[in-house]
Amino acid sequence: MYLSHQDWQAKAAALQADGNAWIDGRRCPAANGDTLDSINPMTAQPVASIAAASEQDVDIAVAAARRSFNQGDWSRADASERRRILLAIASQIRAHRHELALLDCLEVGKCISDALDDVEEAAVLFDWYGELQDKLFDQVAPAPNGVQATVVHEPLGVIGAVVPWNYPLHNAVVKLAPALAAGNSVVLKPAEESSLSALRLAELCREAGLPDGVLNVVPGLGPVVGAAMGRHMDIDAIGFTGSTEIGKRFMVYAGESNMKPVWLECGGKSPHLIFEDCPNLDAAVDAVIAGIFTNAGQVCSAHSRLLLQDGIADAFVASLVDRISRLQPGDPLDPATRLGPLVSQAQFDKVCHYLDTGKREATLQCGGEALQVAGGQLFVAPTVFDRVGPDQRLFREEIFGPVLTITRFSNEDEAVALANDSDYGLAASVWTTLLSRAHRLTQALQAGTVTVNGVDAVSPQTPFGGMKQSGIGRDYALSGLHKYMAQKTCWIHYQL
Ligand code: NAD
Repeated sequence: MYLSHQDWQAKAAALQADGNAWIDGRRCPAANGDTLDSINPMTAQPVASIAAASEQDVDIAVAAARRSFNQGDWSRADASERRRILLAIASQIRAHRHELALLDCLEVGKCISDALDDVEEAAVLFDWYGELQDKLFDQVAPAPNGVQATVVHEPLGVIGAVVPWNYPLHNAVVKLAPALAAGNSVVLKPAEESSLSALRLAELCREAGLPDGVLNVVPGLGPVVGAAMGRHMDIDAIGFTGSTEIGKRFMVYAGESNMKPVWLECGGKSPHLIFEDCPNLDAAVDAVIAGIFTNAGQVCSAHSRLLLQDGIADAFVASLVDRISRLQPGDPLDPATRLGPLVSQAQFDKVCHYLDTGKREATLQCGGEALQVAGGQLFVAPTVFDRVGPDQRLFREEIFGPVLTITRFSNEDEAVALANDSDYGLAASVWTTLLSRAHRLTQALQAGTVTVNGVDAVSPQTPFGGMKQSGIGRDYALSGLHKYMAQKTCWIHYQL
């Protein structure tokens, strides 16, 4: 059913969201009664009061997760039973898609059309890992006569998942679906800015048949709840998505506690390379715009560094700037809006600081200013800085806003050197007609995902993650499942 702008406004006005934690199958306030407000970036008004959990709450949630794991209702359930429940969760997500999308829209200013897409992708992930349940086999290894050697995968136990605000529901599900599919119990910590969709999802999981204690959602402050999870002696692995800075802290927490594996999906500064033999310049312009302005640039794999070959650079920039002028920011509750506000005052201030730097150090092609839109104060105009050098901060640092830099190159070697001149290595995209160049660059570019003649391709079937300081490990696909499992080798001598 299509909902109009007015329909969404009416739903928003009627919303009454529950910000209490979800532990052991029920809602509860923080043990010490603390709360924090999540703020709508359009109105600067609170969306809901959220439980600001303490270390004690983390202990209670981990104990519930451990109890459920040991009990075995989920961890030792038949594959067919787990499949049924995971598919039922996907159905629940689809049945509540308006509500879940609205929560993400209100808490982080995500455009409602994008939020609906995120909800569907979350359902698809539960479908995918659900279907996998009864289709995976372990291995029998070659062994001497009279001996059987098998290699099996077992759930690890209790997984801690810590996620950011930019794709609230989707990022949570990228951790939850494989961790649950592997048979684990989970304690999830959403970001301070965006707890509501994850909390609601936990209720929907219970309605779908997930046993109590298997999924717990503990909202609160990163340095309190996140740190307690990182250092917890009874959490068996951490799946983290967020900044590189905090990702590194989780490695320290693990070293200070039980040496748990830490899987990190962190920041990026992805390059977008357009060669003179680009097969379709119009399509490439559209891809560049989608690659940096989706979600107002608040995307880990945002293609924030555009590298243009000299021969097409001026014409490409002219076409890009013309197309960007038609990208009008608007109210995220309007289904026609493609560019919303930034998530918070802090993120807005950070991006504005980079605008000032850019105006001093580079050539401004468009944007470069803050905007007020439909009463919202946190909008930044889609911005392009040209002639940005590889030593400049604009080229090197993750801005996490609608800001694109352009650097020009003359030949392929120079393009590859520029693309790889980064601490990050999450994604890269290349436009070329030459098959040989496509093969050379998919090998040469240091990125977890390289897309040729497209941008930032992602699917449940293919691993996603980063090289260098973009992270450790891969989400999605079988890699996403196996990182939450222990590989066990079993030797059985049966001729004694
Ligand atoms: P963040 O690192 O500030 O926060 C991420 C999570 O860590 C939040 O839940 C937060 O509460 C928690 N946290 C904060 N401080 C902590 C601490 N001291 N100890 C333990 N936990 C703590 O990131 P953010 O600002 O929420 O999100 C933006 C970042 O996320 C960007 O760098 C972006 O690139 C990255 N990101 C990466 C991917 C990916 O797949 N690689 C996807 C989305 C976002």
